[in-house]
Amino acid sequence: MSAPKRYTITAALPYTNGPIHIGHLAGVYVPADIYARYLRLIGKDVAYISGSDEHGAAIPMRAKKEGVSPQVIIDKYHGIIKKSFLDFGISFDNYSRTSSKIHHETASDFFTKMYNDGEFIEEVSAQLYDAEANQFLADRFVVGTCPKCGFEESYGDQCESCGTSHNATDLINPKSAITGNIPTVKETKHWFLPLDKHEDFLRKWILEGHKKDWKPNVYGQVKSWVEDGLRPRAVTRDLDWGIPVPLEGADGKVLYVWFDAPIGYISSTKEWAAREGKNWEDYWKKEDTKMVHFIGKDNIVFHCIIFPSMLKAHGDYILPDNVPANEFLNLEGNKLSTSKNWAVWLHEYLEEFPNQQDVLRYTLTANAPESKDNDFTWKDFQAKNNNELVAIFGNFINRVVVLTNKYYNGIVPEPNDFSEIDEDVLATIKEFPLTIGKSIERYRFREASQELMSLARLGNKYLADEEPWKVIKLDEERVKTIMYVALQISAALAVVSEPFLPFSATKLKNILNISASLSWEDVTENTVLLPATHQINKAELLFSKIEDKEIEAQVEKLAATKIANEQENKVTAPQKETIEFEDFTKLDIRVGTILEAEKVAKTKKLLKLKVDVGIDIRTIVSGIAESFSPEEIIGLQVSVLVNLAPRKIRGVESQGMILMTDTPDGKLAFVAPTKEVKNGQAVS
Ligand SMILES: [Zn+2]
Repeated sequence: MSAPKRYTITAALPYTNGPIHIGHLAGVYVPADIYARYLRLIGKDVAYISGSDEHGAAIPMRAKKEGVSPQVIIDKYHGIIKKSFLDFGISFDNYSRTSSKIHHETASDFFTKMYNDGEFIEEVSAQLYDAEANQFLADRFVVGTCPKCGFEESYGDQCESCGTSHNATDLINPKSAITGNIPTVKETKHWFLPLDKHEDFLRKWILEGHKKDWKPNVYGQVKSWVEDGLRPRAVTRDLDWGIPVPLEGADGKVLYVWFDAPIGYISSTKEWAAREGKNWEDYWKKEDTKMVHFIGKDNIVFHCIIFPSMLKAHGDYILPDNVPANEFLNLEGNKLSTSKNWAVWLHEYLEEFPNQQDVLRYTLTANAPESKDNDFTWKDFQAKNNNELVAIFGNFINRVVVLTNKYYNGIVPEPNDFSEIDEDVLATIKEFPLTIGKSIERYRFREASQELMSLARLGNKYLADEEPWKVIKLDEERVKTIMYVALQISAALAVVSEPFLPFSATKLKNILNISASLSWEDVTENTVLLPATHQINKAELLFSKIEDKEIEAQVEKLAATKIANEQENKVTAPQKETIEFEDFTKLDIRVGTILEAEKVAKTKKLLKLKVDVGIDIRTIVSGIAESFSPEEIIGLQVSVLVNLAPRKIRGVESQGMILMTDTPDGKLAFVAPTKEVKNGQAVS
């Protein structure tokens, strides 16, 4: 597309059945925000749009569970989510919600236009039904085995394991999520979007038209979908929560949440345009508008196949220029999960790291799951903060500001002749906005964040090489030039860091006492960003070191979550067959003391023990090496089954067995007397 006149940037509508976590931020909202902020800085006309997705079966289900109305659920989470976005500087031009009047009207009209144009198939078909709950089962109301990957807990509309989207009737062994019953089938009428009819269009538009400019992960997924063959998808549901189907005789039916949610981008744009005195249609219907959808990979099918087919069928709308979907972010090696509480919640993060939004924004960008799933670890978070933000960016700025205040009372000095190095540095500064911008425009936000850090590195290196704190004793005039150049780098950083680190950029602009309106172009065009005689303010720390104990606390918090999850999921084995007392008395269990312990060579699990069991001192091989080191168990009293037939384990004869149990963290524990007793005492 040749230079677009305006940009419509959408960020996936978060679902209001829980707060948002770092995975959402990394996958969608931070990259979209960097993109929007950058475009504004280069003077573009931008509508950055999102809102809460408040329909769908999961909302009334959650409401039922909590014993409240669906409205209470959506109000609660819409509030929490909206606040998190505000707190993290996500600069939406409008954040709406799909329960709003304007959205109900927009989605209804959209459906009606398509209906009148004959774009739907009307079909009475057999759907899964839960007689006890008196409800049809679709989407999240039904779970069963995924027909594609065999995952046993797949939802009715999409499999969380392989991402496949399907119809509820495709599930193998379906079960009602409300009652657990096996559903019956019952006939009901629905409207279907014949995706097969749009296959040719999708092939031409994406498979041929966007082969080069779409991310391989997105393109590949679309290709496999289209090549598998598309089938009609129902766009209505039998449900009492959502947007009523605007047709006669459609009582008790609502639009499918995935039909109405993307239309939420349009209604949110309308809401914004009305408030700002703009024409919303320019942002959705004009060919010289560039539209970009930011989403996570689980939404690719909806944004690249279903929504474009709807827009095309409707006829009045433009199509997205790109859908730069991200892969998933994991947390400390495990998949982020709302239900398992395996997450870093944004509202909790801010309580524990107040005013450090930029650190999280930076870490999530520098480590963004752009081309493959990636892992967030607290150690890496600490390293990114301490080694990059503090040691490079913050350290450079701090030295420049402190020295300028010390030498010149905060007044930018008049430079003398520039050395070759000075000229080089001043010329290099001007290249950064272009390089960073190019990466952003190609949706390579990790790369862009590293280029930003390179500019700070350049400043750090310049100061380290020029050593103004040493030169000041020999050549005061030279130091004026050095500080002048270093101040220009600082001002450039204040501008180009804004999309990534908006809070720190504002702080830095205040320290340097420069106008918020300094633009990307100013950095490229003007050598003088901070003129001589300009007064700057006192130094203030931009970033502060994160200590080991803060990180350990986070890791411990996650470990506690893991244990709680395991406890919750642990199934207690059923009781074994009844035995007689004589059966029990056959077991000769004695208390003994471990005298010696050593690892059995070439094994991971085995320890060879010498145990005094009162009767004698014997050798026992025990599979406990992953839970205990040899040193820590010497002298411990344990329970030993002494009359177990001896057997050879890895060439060592084991004469008995130590009694053990499992702890919640997957380790072993000894079953032992709580007071010291004589070795050889029987356990009965
Ligand atoms: Zn699957």
